Amino acid sequence: MKHLPRILIVEDEPAIAELIAVNLRHGGFDSVVAQDSVTAQRELDAVLPDAILLDWMLPGQSGLSLARHWRKQPRTKDVPILMLTARGDEPDKVAGLDAGADDYITKPFSTQELLARLRAVLRRRSPTSVSDAVTVGGLMLDAATHRTFFQNRELKLGPTEFKLLHYLMKHAERVHSRSALLDKVWGDHVFIEERTVDVHVKRLREALGSAGVMVETVRGAGYRLTSLTASGH
Ligand code: CA
Repeated sequence: MKHLPRILIVEDEPAIAELIAVNLRHGGFDSVVAQDSVTAQRELDAVLPDAILLDWMLPGQSGLSLARHWRKQPRTKDVPILMLTARGDEPDKVAGLDAGADDYITKPFSTQELLARLRAVLRRRSPTSVSDAVTVGGLMLDAATHRTFFQNRELKLGPTEFKLLHYLMKHAERVHSRSALLDKVWGDHVFIEERTVDVHVKRLREALGSAGVMVETVRGAGYRLTSLTASGH
């Protein structure tokens, strides 16, 4: 399965949340809905989304205070936040941006506007997940569409293998230690052991098929992606 950008929808009105989720799915996004701040926090702790759609008016903790809180946390500070506000609430919008939201969208909004604004915040905030294609040897990875090709044949990568390959391709021919890879690829997960890297490298090699030899083990040092192999050309 290819990795679709994952959006956390924090919205207490089920009908609106469902409508947004359906629209996002059709727009090429994966989404998960949280109807209150506690559920939203639990979702964030479990899986870091690519962006958060955050309703202003929530029961309990408001969207504004959630945005402020998430901006201060090292784990969530770089996740783009798009706030949903009521029509014409100009002071709200300013306060939302002050609290660290990347953008806001006024209800009711069109699907096209929502998708366009989401893509825009993703482009601005996470240039590594939405950027141009990278090519190394016969490998081509397009981060914008989350697709990977070897000699023009599409490869099926899991989300972690995709991120790992993306990083290795952007820093090809260099050797990366396991701890450096954990830091750069798994950056948001603190409690992962170094051997996890080995597991994902193994899966990545399998997924790459004949291009798997391009991922080299450098004894005592780590891993390197190289185009300087027979199969890399
Ligand atoms: Ca609401």
